[in-house]
Amino acid sequence: MRLGARFRHFCADIRNKDTGAATRSVILSDMYDLIIIGGGPAGVAAAVYAARKRLKTVLIAEEVGGQSVVSEGIENWIGTPNIGGVELAKAFSAHLDAVKGDVVILATHERVVSLKKIAGGFLAATKTGKEFSARAVLIASGAGRRKLDVPGADKFENKGVTYCASCDGPLFGGMDVVVVGGGNAGFETALQLLAYAKSVTLIHRHKDFKADPVTVERARAHENMHIITHAEPTEVMGEQFVTGLKYTDKDSGEVKELAISGVFAELGVIPNTDFAEGLVELDAIKRIKADPHNQRTSTLGVWAAGDCTDELYHQNNIAAGDGVKALEDIYLWIKKQ
Ligand SMILES: Cc1cc2nc3c(=O)[nH]c(=O)nc-3n(C[C@H](O)[C@H](O)[C@H](O)COP(=O)(O)OP(=O)(O)OC[C@H]3O[C@@H](n4cnc5c(N)ncnc54)[C@H](O)[C@@H]3O)c2cc1C
Repeated sequence: MRLGARFRHFCADIRNKDTGAATRSVILSDMYDLIIIGGGPAGVAAAVYAARKRLKTVLIAEEVGGQSVVSEGIENWIGTPNIGGVELAKAFSAHLDAVKGDVVILATHERVVSLKKIAGGFLAATKTGKEFSARAVLIASGAGRRKLDVPGADKFENKGVTYCASCDGPLFGGMDVVVVGGGNAGFETALQLLAYAKSVTLIHRHKDFKADPVTVERARAHENMHIITHAEPTEVMGEQFVTGLKYTDKDSGEVKELAISGVFAELGVIPNTDFAEGLVELDAIKRIKADPHNQRTSTLGVWAAGDCTDELYHQNNIAAGDGVKALEDIYLWIKKQ
């Protein structure tokens, strides 16, 4: 099938699934103005602005909500003193539903596997074989969890080693558990676990924490919270399930062992940028290099926002702001074409 015909075919798919009859104008056109990849705060904020500016847009996302969907309580999403991650994701979906129609089309539960330059724009292909083309692209694909890379971590994943306290925490009620990582995610995880676990030991490789002092103090206030700094995990021990964690005390060089039943790893994130390799410039850890003034990448016509970029700080509000900034620039760029 020729690209144009194939594109109309895909649009018809989308019309049937997501938007009903209202997408006729999109079916007859050759390209979208914009593809947004990602349904976290960056992608959703950009889609809301794209709708207001009447840019014909398709938002492609595996899931709507973003990384903090697993958070019990987000206390710094401006305008909401406390909101659960699931509630925030629902609010994003509701906002997308309010703007979707003949201008903004949603292609959710779709994973982009390749993004290429074509004549007049870009072509994104998804894992299910769908293709979307547009004059401009905003990559807002965020990041995923970094795995614990020590012997035993793979073997005992889901048998005591876990990456989601909200999902698995209650299974460890009354047990001794360890959290690896001293950032906000590590301390937030510890705080969640303190509600059910017998004790929580947090291991951190440095002497200082990246986490906000207020979160650290909140965790320290619990009697059953223990903190070990300047220590490196070396092995997850177990038989059928986890029974312990070995670590090296970096001050003394001594190898020590903790008898615990659960390991919650909060080691930061890896950017979701595989599909963009070769199209835009990435840094050493595969984050997309973006101009902080306007979120432009090294490739004309491609913008990037949020945690998939080399932005210094990773927060919901920042990701949303970057998405909006990108959209303002994309709008002016498209109008000039
Ligand atoms: C446990 C935890 C708690 C947090 N708590 C807070 C907090 O309290 N406050 C705060 O401000 N920040 C918090 N953060 C950080 C915040 O969640 C991130 O900074 C923010 O989500 C980044 O937004 P984003 O839109 O750039 O990307 P993400 O939120 O990572 O969203 C990426 C989106 O892209 C989609 N996607 C990824 N790859 C593809 C692909 N190939 N094709 C299609 N779609 C794709 C995903 O499905 C998702 O929709 C927390 C993070 C974690 C992990």
